[in-house]
Amino acid sequence: MVNERMYGLGAEPSAIRELFAYGMARKAEIGDENVFDFSIGNPSVPAPEAAKQAVLELMEEPPCDLHGYTPAAGAPSVRQTVADHIRRRFGVPASPDQVYLTAGAAAGLAISISAVTKPGDEVIVIAPYFPEYKVWIDTAACACVEVPAHVPDFQLDIDALDAAIGPKTSAVIINSPNNPVGAVYTRENLGAFAALLERKEAELSRKIYVISDEPYREITYGAEVPYVPCVWPRTIVCYSYSKSLSLPGERIGYIYVSDLMDDAREVSTAVAGAGRALGFICAPVLFQRVIERCIDEPSDVASYAANRALLTKGLGALGYEFVEPDGAFYLWVRALEDDAQAFSDRAKAHELLLVPSDSFGVGGWVRVSYCISRETIERSMPAFKALMEEYRS
Ligand code: PLP
Repeated sequence: MVNERMYGLGAEPSAIRELFAYGMARKAEIGDENVFDFSIGNPSVPAPEAAKQAVLELMEEPPCDLHGYTPAAGAPSVRQTVADHIRRRFGVPASPDQVYLTAGAAAGLAISISAVTKPGDEVIVIAPYFPEYKVWIDTAACACVEVPAHVPDFQLDIDALDAAIGPKTSAVIINSPNNPVGAVYTRENLGAFAALLERKEAELSRKIYVISDEPYREITYGAEVPYVPCVWPRTIVCYSYSKSLSLPGERIGYIYVSDLMDDAREVSTAVAGAGRALGFICAPVLFQRVIERCIDEPSDVASYAANRALLTKGLGALGYEFVEPDGAFYLWVRALEDDAQAFSDRAKAHELLLVPSDSFGVGGWVRVSYCISRETIERSMPAFKALMEEYRS
């Protein structure tokens, strides 16, 4: 007898991964160049040369030191380097004790959710949202409360959040720059959110944590991305190098429990406990050390910016409706019928792989990942045109 819920999760891959797997099989059948795979967020920009150099240099170190365990929260020197970076960059008093290195943002989020909730609590997510949030919230035996983003700008909807935050709310997960819509929350919007949280904490006599999921912090097209701990002290940042340094397979990131919150030590201790309980200890050690050396390495967003321009221009000219993205590398496109899955299926017939919006918690849209080659976007335009014509006729 296995655990039924775990069986269900294992048996039913996410919509994104399912489409990605379909794309791989289809490419093997008809050739890579004939499939327009906009399904997954795998960076198309190579990791920086500095990361490669760091690996090569590190490989010269004594293997037992290099590959050995670090403390559960990560190597002290790496935690210090991350804390120094946060302090330098955002002007907050970050201390290494508040940094916990993780296997990507995924581990960071699962840990953070478990650290600040107890079974039966509610965790708010902003729809559309990264589908795995729900899996991690369910695993912590909490209820996932979906609050729609404000339309049409996809900022936080303060009134809707006001209505949703109640006596069981422990945390709100936010993600800016956002997957899947590409929105970046403005300073003004975050300020209004913080004012709401302050009022709610007083009204409900309860602490409300913001879990700020930040894998796309560096992937922006000119928009300012305010540092959430500066706006709301009770913030836990889940950062990742998956997208910023194109290292998704290396599984490296960190949790930063803001020093500015009044219960900072209690929360970072609970983070250590949740890391232990979930088995997320000692993040991949080679890449802890790579990060230490590459902490100030800039992200290369030039090709994403070019892809964004190409795609929005092309789809705009064809009459598609979409949200102009300020960050991340996804375009949120209105499906040409209400049923997003049916639309995605019809797109598939044109070899266009577009993720239906349902698993992001809303209907009627598709997510188009543009972290792919420029040529694929260029060659996909006749397929997008044919799809539009099919609906118009
Ligand atoms: N959060 C969001 C919004 C994401 O898009 C992703 C990955 O695509 C993750 C978290 C997980 O990132 P990581 O690879 O760092 O675990």
